[in-house]
Amino acid sequence: METNAQFLDRLTQPAWIYEEESNGVRCLACAHQCLVLPGKRGVCKMRTNKDGVLHSPWGYVAAMNADPIEKKPFMHFLPGSLALTFGMLGCNFHCDFCQNWVSSQTLRDPASASALRYIREIQPEGVVAAAERAGAKVIASSYNEPLITTEWAIDIFNIAQEKGMRCVYVSNGFATERVLKALQPTLDGLKIDLKCFSDEHYRTLGGRLEQVCHTIQFAHDLGIWVEVVSLVIPDFNDSTQELWQMAEFVRSVSADIPWHVTAFYPTYHHTSAGRTPPETLQLAAEIGQEAGLQYVYAGNLPGRVGSLENTYCPHCQSLLVKRWGYRVEENCVTDENTCPQCGQVVAGVWH
Ligand code: SF4
Repeated sequence: METNAQFLDRLTQPAWIYEEESNGVRCLACAHQCLVLPGKRGVCKMRTNKDGVLHSPWGYVAAMNADPIEKKPFMHFLPGSLALTFGMLGCNFHCDFCQNWVSSQTLRDPASASALRYIREIQPEGVVAAAERAGAKVIASSYNEPLITTEWAIDIFNIAQEKGMRCVYVSNGFATERVLKALQPTLDGLKIDLKCFSDEHYRTLGGRLEQVCHTIQFAHDLGIWVEVVSLVIPDFNDSTQELWQMAEFVRSVSADIPWHVTAFYPTYHHTSAGRTPPETLQLAAEIGQEAGLQYVYAGNLPGRVGSLENTYCPHCQSLLVKRWGYRVEENCVTDENTCPQCGQVVAGVWH
């Protein structure tokens, strides 16, 4: 009988984001840069070396939904539009608080095997057609870590771009320069998690702080629209000092990068900490504002974080976009991407 790994290995195609080495292939789709020996798989478990050729997942989705772009979350990227969001399986991290662990921990955690039941084989044209049917202006790769399936995403994004759609990633940011350069021609927006500001903690999740910071800087330098999200977890990353460090780092890249501080709820193996109280998000947001960030948002607690779901003009403080949760109730940004009151340019992708 076919194993889950064999089934997933059938749903692959030869990859191209890698280099050959004398004894295997060096995958460059994420910062692990695994040396994958013949017959073996990388840290993500999804990219495999078949007879000296790296293969990556292709030709399926494990989830596909038309979501508000605010759910990704993007606040400065076509507010109020729908994002046809697809996900595959697997991840290069193993966060014990993952809210998508059933799709991310495939072949790593046996409890996530049920995710394979949701696999639907599809071609890139089929994903774009689904976006057209839904009236989505955006296509998003999310739910699992998109970096590990970048060849598949680029095949979809090329078609979507021809149809005038915008394309985004919802990623943990553990990228290489090579994969970001490969994505840059088709990737319009990148949401990156900044999960903490402790390298020690990052390593327990399977990553490295310095590399995620480099991705934020490098993607911004490439001209990709970047928004940063920090899930604020009690006793993990919610000290005043660590919140300051995260905010100051984002500010050092650009004051125009939106920083989302979002509320945690106990999940997967991280159930000892309680939910993030609204007061903690308020404090984190104040820290972001004091650090000099122009746009700070509090998420996952709709209606409970005061004005922190809205966008205000950083110059005259006029209300620009009014939101309740994922719903946009008002959007006053002009066709010239400016504040209608004072003419200040508002950073983002508005049209
Ligand atoms: S995507 Fe990352 S984890 Fe997966 S094989 Fe490539 S380098 Fe390794």
